[in-house]
Amino acid sequence: MRERDTLYLTDFLRSADERARAAEFLRSGGLVVMPTETVYGLAANALDPLAVASIYVAKGRPSDNPLIVHIASVDALESVTAGAGEAARRLFARFSPGPLTLVLPRSPRLPATVTGGLETVGIRIPSHPAALALIEASGLPLAAPSANRSGRVSPTSFAMARVEMAGRVDAIIDGGDCAVGLESTVARVTDGAVVILRPGAVTLEMIRDALPGHAVSFADESALSRGIAAPSPGMRYAHYRPDAAVYCWHGGPVDGIGERGTRAVIGLAGCAAGVDAAFVREFESVEEYSARFFATLSECDAAGMETIIAQAVREEGLGAALMNRLRRASAGKSLGL
Ligand code: AMP
Ligand code: MG
Repeated sequence: MRERDTLYLTDFLRSADERARAAEFLRSGGLVVMPTETVYGLAANALDPLAVASIYVAKGRPSDNPLIVHIASVDALESVTAGAGEAARRLFARFSPGPLTLVLPRSPRLPATVTGGLETVGIRIPSHPAALALIEASGLPLAAPSANRSGRVSPTSFAMARVEMAGRVDAIIDGGDCAVGLESTVARVTDGAVVILRPGAVTLEMIRDALPGHAVSFADESALSRGIAAPSPGMRYAHYRPDAAVYCWHGGPVDGIGERGTRAVIGLAGCAAGVDAAFVREFESVEEYSARFFATLSECDAAGMETIIAQAVREEGLGAALMNRLRRASAGKSLGL
């Protein structure tokens, strides 16, 4: 991979010059890391096959994994899809801009590299003002996966994005810490049914509430282990792995797990009471735990922790999204169940 000079854009919303430079990189086939409310994204012109190919190179990601296309409003749906039905439009109206990606029939204008060869494309309207400003300044639909190197945790701060992508992209925009901190909900909408391919901050309960009369369910991930084709290709890959060994912790003693001096405990307020650990981080709510989850895993690595004991939460609402990431980070290692 060719080393790139990376420009840091630290005043993006106030500086017309920074917006113009970022837009110019994108129009000429370059790569720009943009903040979104979910995680930082690695953006390129979704209509340019070479630019899209360079995303896969920068990430070190298999090229059959489809990318999400980011647009600024539903007005751009026609340029990137072959049409959105009534239910999809209702979901966009209710939850966009925001952390919801809908899988829709793709426009023939999109290169096959964006969709990993699929006939569908994931579309999202992000709410972070810098992401919207970047889409508008460039006048382009932006293909963007999370801005981490493949298999590593998604960056949720400017500092994490720099560690992942310095030297691999043309610019990185500072948009502060991501408010949601977990990747978007990905859902496939068909007549009368919605299947959630990846849980996120737009929850199953919220989608049910928005579409009375529709069957709303999570995709069956266990089908993957039985060798059935993945409903969402990203489900096949190892994700969100820090260097430390992560355990999904349902409570109870942790004595035999790791060494005291390199053991971290993270979870909801009070979870670490009576537990002997060198690094403790407690959060006031599932929202805060989710928002800080990836950043905390990365902090544990930086602090030299070798074991991370991460408290499980109830699998409802946003908890379903956090547990999905925690299960992947722990690669099935669980404690207290
Ligand atoms: P990331 O880009 O890292 O946020 O991951 C994007 C996620 O959306 C992956 O899990 C993809 O598999 C999923 N995705 C994107 N486009 C599609 C699509 N057309 N059909 C199914 N899943 C998709
Ligand atoms: Mg990702």
